[in-house]
Amino acid sequence: MTGLEARGLSYSYGTKRALDDVSFSVSSGTFCALLGPNGAGKSTLFNLLTRLFVAPDGQITIAGHDLRQSPRAALAQLGIVFQQTTLDMNLTVQQNLSYFAALHGLSGRAARSRIESALDQLDMRERAGEKARTLNGGHRRRTEIARALLHDPSVLLLDEPTVGLDAATRASITDYAHGLADEGKTILWATHLTDEVQPDDDLVILHQAQVLATGKARDIAGDTSLQERFLALTGTGA
Ligand code: ADP
Repeated sequence: MTGLEARGLSYSYGTKRALDDVSFSVSSGTFCALLGPNGAGKSTLFNLLTRLFVAPDGQITIAGHDLRQSPRAALAQLGIVFQQTTLDMNLTVQQNLSYFAALHGLSGRAARSRIESALDQLDMRERAGEKARTLNGGHRRRTEIARALLHDPSVLLLDEPTVGLDAATRASITDYAHGLADEGKTILWATHLTDEVQPDDDLVILHQAQVLATGKARDIAGDTSLQERFLALTGTGA
């Protein structure tokens, strides 16, 4: 089954083409890395997938729901972690999650039980009472991932979620997201770093608004490293 599908997406800012006929699909329960250097169009693509922007043409399907025809059903299946932290720094971890749960119509016992299980999953329960402001970058990210999972979406989008984190924290968050795919979530993980991509991952390489390659990371790398292949395709370092 397809978890996420984009067909023929284009988007321009004035005369600047940010996406040009972008198509790819991610099977459900798969980790897909969206790899592209800065300016490739990754954030623009996320803005279309989350319906912050509406694509003038093309089609987006989330867990079988067409985003244009059935936006509520499609967005209900979507969890999002944005590049910039969107936690309320003056609220505790628990309060940030409760607020989000309420926005999704979850309250009372149902909300409490979902929040506890999300905090457990992310190993954040003992920090539930701490203000977001006092958390380190890795714990803030974990809180945001817990929040994105509260309504049990089948598809999770993460836009460069490791920016600004140290290497060990980066690796632990990347591993955690791979584990979510093993549990059945469809993951789209935007990055410009090839070391966040594992050989068995699905991979979409985006560069200058266009998809340059799609397939298994191992197959795209071929007989060289993904880093070298990426450099050769895009003419940029990672
Ligand atoms: P990425 O997330 O891969 O770094 P973006 O989607 O942010 O790429 O940007 C794609 C292209 O669109 C870049 O050339 C960027 O400069 C341009 N762009 C992004 N946002 C705007 C905007 N609001 N107005 C004009 N150009 C933009």
